[in-house]
Amino acid sequence: MMERALVTGGGTGIGRGVAELLAEDGYSVSIVGRRPAPLEETLDRLTGGPHSRISADVSTITGVQKVAAAVSDRGRLDALVHCAGGLGDSDGDDLSTLYEQMLDSFRTNVVSVAMLTEALAPMLRDGRGRVAAIGSIAAFRGGGIAYASSKSALHGWAFTAARAFGRRGVTVNVVAPGYIADTELFGDGPTDARRRRLVDETMVGKAGLPADVAAMTAFLVSAGAGHVTAQVIGVNGGALPR
Ligand code: NDP
Repeated sequence: MMERALVTGGGTGIGRGVAELLAEDGYSVSIVGRRPAPLEETLDRLTGGPHSRISADVSTITGVQKVAAAVSDRGRLDALVHCAGGLGDSDGDDLSTLYEQMLDSFRTNVVSVAMLTEALAPMLRDGRGRVAAIGSIAAFRGGGIAYASSKSALHGWAFTAARAFGRRGVTVNVVAPGYIADTELFGDGPTDARRRRLVDETMVGKAGLPADVAAMTAFLVSAGAGHVTAQVIGVNGGALPR
């Protein structure tokens, strides 16, 4: 039987890289995002199949319910990969701006992950189900206040979910990338100077690519990774030795 994966944020960047690799590995992949156009572009690039797309905002209850309904129509799920996320606006210097940015970042980067996992939990295959979420190096060394805080919160979510799902043979992990080029995360940025600084911080002297994050994620959601759970695993070129 064909294994099934759901990848949020699958229309662009890291999510697209994950979807492409899981499709190559023989999964039937469903990708989720808000904009239909990038999802269509990714679908065209996926090998094998059948694959599908779901347009939904996973930071809302209705969006999560829409995804859950589409998944349950198609049966059990082997791999759930949360790549949807965003930097949000840069930090503001007044309380109301901070308040909005904190709520926005938490909704986008962690409430979405917790809600979608909860909604799809009954569909994760016992003894095989794998959940992976894309965190960030910012959780360890800071970034924007709202962004870094929300990415750190993923760790507590993952440890708790891993414990809850452990006896079912379902794993939960976080992949924490450093700077990854070729995504839409930074919009038109980062500036050349910032890009150079981010690359200089690595030991390998280069930016990561979506395929680098996809390789680790594909391992974590593979059948063979059943004893790896409640871990936060960096993919950062050595930018954060620990
Ligand atoms: P992208 O902006 O290319 O990817 C983010 C994707 O998430 C987009 O396809 C976007 O599609 C989707 N998305 C965002 N919000 C929602 C939502 N509410 N509902 C559904 N889909 C949503 O950036 P990356 O690929 O770089 O980012 C992927 C993840 O990796 C993020 O969590 C990011 O924080 C993390 N990360 C990235 C790093 C980097 O250097 N690139 C470093 C560390 C972590 P749409 O707008 O159509 O909804």
